[in-house]
Amino acid sequence: MVGLFDLKGRVALVTGGNGGIGLGMAKGLAEAGADIAVAGRDAKKAADAVAALAALGVQAAFVAVDVLSAASCQAMVAETAKRFGRLDILINNAGTAIRKRPEELSEEEWHRVVDTNLTSIFHCAKAAYPHMKHAGRGKIINIGSIMSIFAAPWVAPYAASKGGVVQLSKALATAWAADNIQVNTVLPGWIDTELTLGARRQVPGLNEKVISRTPAGRWGTPEDMAGIAVFLASAASDFVTGTAIPVDGGFASMVW
Ligand code: NDP
Repeated sequence: MVGLFDLKGRVALVTGGNGGIGLGMAKGLAEAGADIAVAGRDAKKAADAVAALAALGVQAAFVAVDVLSAASCQAMVAETAKRFGRLDILINNAGTAIRKRPEELSEEEWHRVVDTNLTSIFHCAKAAYPHMKHAGRGKIINIGSIMSIFAAPWVAPYAASKGGVVQLSKALATAWAADNIQVNTVLPGWIDTELTLGARRQVPGLNEKVISRTPAGRWGTPEDMAGIAVFLASAASDFVTGTAIPVDGGFASMVW
């Protein structure tokens, strides 16, 4: 049974793997034996992440990327493949939020959120595809949100982009299933990270709302995201593709 989840010899590239949910998932993959390319902009944060992953006994390295640039996404994939010799798993986790009412958002802000959260997944997945096709298998894990299925007055581009992630994943899944590449979305609930620290500062009463609205009665942690990453990256999910899985302490199952 352990073999089903074994990732020894596999190479995973995690965008935004230098902190938060990305690092939580990367640690899960490393514990299952995968070598990890940590991709992001902040090299200092990444150095700590790489050290934490290397301490788990795998190879880990930082690969710089700005996912807003298609060329940078392509270079990130090329550098990973060159450095590690292969690419088996891609986690498209880099994301951002701008919390404003729709009437207050500029065009630039709209594009910054949608391009970071959604368009980047197209660029990164497209760059990874030839490597996975050549290897005869691959796993792409895209990070949506409970905002893929719910909304709020201050999340227009975020909710639009995260809803789009679910549909983009389905389209990629259908396109590449015959190449033995599985593409799935994870929908995290409210997870305690830098991103939501900002939300807690900006949205009055958010902390109390999250705790009372989440059936589990608590915020999720980056460590809560490790298990789903291992499942979707491993042979255990070889017949699972195009789906979106909430990891949210029951949030999406409760009406209020
Ligand atoms: P963090 O702010 O900790 O992580 C966001 C990551 O994205 C950072 O590592 C950052 O890297 C990276 N990133 C952002 N913009 C870019 C860019 N242009 N190029 C490269 N990397 C970039 O937040 P989370 O861990 O919470 O968020 C991770 C993902 O999870 C996001 O997609 C978010 O939308 C999603 N999510 C989070 C939830 C939560 O409750 N926390 C709930 C649902 C979804 P760097 O620091 O190097 O810029």
